[in-house]
Amino acid sequence: MSFSPKILELVTALRALPGIGSKSAQRLAVHILEHQQEEGLHLAKVLKEAIELVKRCQFCRTLSETDLCRFCSSPNRMASQLCIVESPMDILAIEQSGSFKGRYFVLMGRISPLDGIGPHELKLHELESRLSEPDLLEVILATNPTVEGEATAQYLLSSIRRAGKKVSRIAFGVPFGGELEYVDGHTLSHAFTSRQTL
Ligand code: ZN
Repeated sequence: MSFSPKILELVTALRALPGIGSKSAQRLAVHILEHQQEEGLHLAKVLKEAIELVKRCQFCRTLSETDLCRFCSSPNRMASQLCIVESPMDILAIEQSGSFKGRYFVLMGRISPLDGIGPHELKLHELESRLSEPDLLEVILATNPTVEGEATAQYLLSSIRRAGKKVSRIAFGVPFGGELEYVDGHTLSHAFTSRQTL
């Protein structure tokens, strides 16, 4: 059995989303058309509105409906600390931890030469003006503990030092509540390297 052209178009559109393969796209398309027509129309409306309304914060580049996001416009966030992350999702995770009260800068990716993504593609020059702010004292590099995340942190390190700011990297290691025997060698080695004097 093959789908009619319109259904095929819907399947192709769904398959373009991350994490959705051919079978899932087909199941979703048939399910929406059969059982969730109203929800499907609502999704289409909300999606269109969000794409039209949501833009990048002029200061930190995270997704925001206003020119300045709620972190950049809040007087309660410390201008002395700037945390550099790869994506807006990382901000969510850090906010849920409640451990950071400064401001953010979102790279919107990471340096990955194999994928053709370098400093130019990430528009890293936009970070320069943030680094020249006199109130800024410390920059915290919170890129992911991956090969690309580390390379990005290393690249940023020199420009932050050039700007004369204190710079730190978030620690990676043994998860809280975890047991050493179950932690992989790479993580454990990282935990040893970034150990702290007590
Ligand atoms: Zn912002």
